[in-house]
Amino acid sequence: MHQRSHCPACAAPATAPVLSIPYDQPDLQAFLRRVGFGLPAEWFTGIPFAVHRCLQCEALFQGWVLEEPQLARLYGQNDAAHRLPSESALLALAHLAHDVLLLRRLQPMPQPRVLDYGMGWARFALLAQAFGCEVTGVEVSATTRAHAQRHGIQVCDESELGVAAFDFVLVDQVLEHLSDPAPTLTRLARSLKPGGLLLAGVPGHPKLAGHFARAARDSTQLRELTDRDWDALCPTIHVNLFDATSLRALGERAGLRGFRPPFWRAAGTGLLWDQPRQWGRNFRLAWKYSRGIGTRMWFQRPA
Ligand SMILES: [Zn+2]
Repeated sequence: MHQRSHCPACAAPATAPVLSIPYDQPDLQAFLRRVGFGLPAEWFTGIPFAVHRCLQCEALFQGWVLEEPQLARLYGQNDAAHRLPSESALLALAHLAHDVLLLRRLQPMPQPRVLDYGMGWARFALLAQAFGCEVTGVEVSATTRAHAQRHGIQVCDESELGVAAFDFVLVDQVLEHLSDPAPTLTRLARSLKPGGLLLAGVPGHPKLAGHFARAARDSTQLRELTDRDWDALCPTIHVNLFDATSLRALGERAGLRGFRPPFWRAAGTGLLWDQPRQWGRNFRLAWKYSRGIGTRMWFQRPA
């Protein structure tokens, strides 16, 4: 493992960690056992779980991250279940379809060229294809790459991404995993045509900094941390936790500028309006999109 000296979002120098505990701390180990964390214990010998908070953009990030060969072992095989649990499957797909519809309304050419970076089981990619887009995906797992190719999605490596090739790029639930997300996002920005749009989605947890600070002052509070708290900065996996400020800072470093989809266009492409909880979700997301806030944010490559 190696130590990061700068904020992954805005590149400000890292200051002392807000929380630093050994990996064998019992509450941390109990969480790792609950989620079936399967990485070799010897990787963590003598390494602390150290969380830093950037003084400039307020990103939270783990100080110690895995080396490339360790990452290849961690992400090389995607054995996660292909099927979503049935009760959440329809909603999850509707939320992806919402973004596909919105991208089609915002980029009204007959066949937008779309890149799904870190596409997993290609759910977004296949929906975008069904809605008339020409879709390329980047994915490290051989299993999921083969699945996407069988369904007509073009698959390429990050090094093969062209310049000014795409009208839209999705990078969803990816940036929180990357030790150094700026070069990747810069490459994605370059792969956009001038005026092209990028949607970046990351997990959010605005209260985590306070919870960790409390645990740093009083170690008995480590017991009070929930699985959601630990998972937001899951050791070596979710190594960055962004908020709107830090996500915007990262986008601007990559050469992008914030883009705000109009509220009614974002709300009008929402789905499942017969379900009361979707009213709140569709309006809330449209509001956040149109204000450029939250941790699911649109960017544009300047023309
Ligand atoms: Zn920062």
